[in-house]
Amino acid sequence: LTRQLSTIGFIGLGNMGGPMAANLVKAGLAVRGYDLATEALDAARANGVQTVGSAGEVCVGADAVITMLPSGRHLLECYGDGVITACAPKTLLIDCSTVDVNSSRQAHALATEAGLYSVDAPVSGGVVGATAGTLTFMAGGQPDAIALGSGLLAHMGARTVTCGGAGAGQAAKVCNNMILGISMIAVSEAFVLGEALGLTHDALYDVASTASGQCWALSSNCPVPTTSGPVSPASREYQPGFAAELMLKDLRLARDAAAGVAATSLGVHAQEQYERYVAEGGEGSDFSGIIRWIRDQGDAAPTTPTTADPRETHS
Ligand code: NAD
Repeated sequence: LTRQLSTIGFIGLGNMGGPMAANLVKAGLAVRGYDLATEALDAARANGVQTVGSAGEVCVGADAVITMLPSGRHLLECYGDGVITACAPKTLLIDCSTVDVNSSRQAHALATEAGLYSVDAPVSGGVVGATAGTLTFMAGGQPDAIALGSGLLAHMGARTVTCGGAGAGQAAKVCNNMILGISMIAVSEAFVLGEALGLTHDALYDVASTASGQCWALSSNCPVPTTSGPVSPASREYQPGFAAELMLKDLRLARDAAAGVAATSLGVHAQEQYERYVAEGGEGSDFSGIIRWIRDQGDAAPTTPTTADPRETHS
């Protein structure tokens, strides 16, 4: 199933899709793009993408069609509204958006019924990775479809991990980001507790980053500035990075995916905390900015333990 994919359709040319399409142009491919937003189309044109007036037009004559859309609803609308019918048989559809697993599986089914190849390949790496072409793709679908798309993905990313069948890429993405959301809250709580106990950020960082508290949220995206730690959004007033509302989106997807099938109490708790952080001023900030919200909650917390320490009653 190896064949040259040289004419590529691209639907959704926003913060992520825009630079991803630009990297395909840089790799010498003919890219035809569509977006609902005029500004996105203008920016894509400046990067060498040939823009057209509808999702269907993108697909005519395309060897592969990539989507990078906000949600599963948008994906299914696009597929239903022209993409599936406009594609020639055996065209490869790659959805790089982060969407719910059910919508992803529905999109795969629509494609397969129409004789098309289909891959879900959500990404990690953010706008920085999309621009630099260093994204990680988490791929789900038939192995031959993933193999067919792998060269194309290599123009936009550094790594593709094959995760399994239809929807497996989305499943991997949602599980990974649930770990990230929970661990960012854990790291933030530890720094806020450390502050209350008179510990410097440097001391806690130097211990935890080389001990069992080590994790990406601490070592690569530390929610406080430190001397020996990374330069992270905390050093620039929590400018993203990875915006809090995108973390909230992923935690909602994790909650919905878990409903009735898995007990993810910390995942649900993390989603509720990000819900409040985003509603109470966190929107537009990096997700590590939740440490400020956690610190603010402390003002209302009791300052003395509510239960007496039993050791103290025997003196
Ligand atoms: P964005 O809002 O910047 O871009 C989405 C684009 O899709 C917009 O330009 C919008 O006009 C367009 N669009 C919506 N409906 C459309 C339709 N029916 N037809 C054509 N175009 C349509 O969002 P983004 O930041 O580029 O994110 C895209 C996807 O990537 C999301 O699923 C997001 O969760 C995921 N993601 C984003 C990041 C990030 O850091 N931004 C990181 C990883 C994954």
